[in-house]
Amino acid sequence: MKTIVVLTGAGISAESGIKTFRDSDGLWEEHRIEDVATYDAWIKNQNLVLEFYNQRRRQLATVQPNAAHIALAKLEAKYQVYIITQNVDNLHERGGSSNVLHLHGELTKARSTCDEDLVYDIGYKDILPGDKCKNGSQLRPHIVWFGEAVPLIMDAATLVKKADILMVIGTSLVVYPAAGLINYAPSHIPKYYIDPNASNSSCFTNLTVIKAKAGDGVPGLVERLMNN
Ligand code: NAD
Repeated sequence: MKTIVVLTGAGISAESGIKTFRDSDGLWEEHRIEDVATYDAWIKNQNLVLEFYNQRRRQLATVQPNAAHIALAKLEAKYQVYIITQNVDNLHERGGSSNVLHLHGELTKARSTCDEDLVYDIGYKDILPGDKCKNGSQLRPHIVWFGEAVPLIMDAATLVKKADILMVIGTSLVVYPAAGLINYAPSHIPKYYIDPNASNSSCFTNLTVIKAKAGDGVPGLVERLMNN
């Protein structure tokens, strides 16, 4: 069975109604990234950061996977599929994908501020000031903020290295280290990049650029790969 590795960014969830932020004047749901998605922000204004992610989590409960998430799950009938997502939503899982690695964490989890291995499933519940881990420390969103280390990056690189086919969907490829993952793909394998703003990079061999929204481009590509 061939292995397909799929690297996804915020763009794949855009048609589900979750905003990306690079498309909207650098603001993410009316906030500057520095004010809500960095460790400094957490130190300066814990309440604002908790409320920002509580809103994201409440919104997640109201949206649905789109045609792109659902199409990717169909690949599992013919391929070993690994999704590596920069997204903190759970739309790949809800669209039916089995193997999803969340590079930047998950909205539906909270973790201890004193022990990063203490992670709790919270579903769509808010995290409130005063909510504590079993050791008595404040809980924070289980999110890798900008500037923080990405613990799963080497696991992701290992998956990309063993890909027979690579798909990159809905990412501007500017947020590192995630963007660097594409460099681990074997040079001879076919690579597909689906994004309405995708640019053709001469750095990558065997790259097919599909300038389209995920909901338009992914189902067609999946159908081609299923008929290969
Ligand atoms: P990004 O850097 O991956 O850029 C978004 C990309 O999506 C752009 O290249 C844009 O052209 C593309 N895009 C827009 N609409 C699309 C569509 N319909 N189909 C396909 N592609 C489309 O992502 P970002 O918004 O800059 O976010 C960076 C980080 O912020 C993420 O990696 C994540 O950690 C966090 N974030 C997560 C979510 C989420 O979980 N859904 C949403 C926003 C931001």
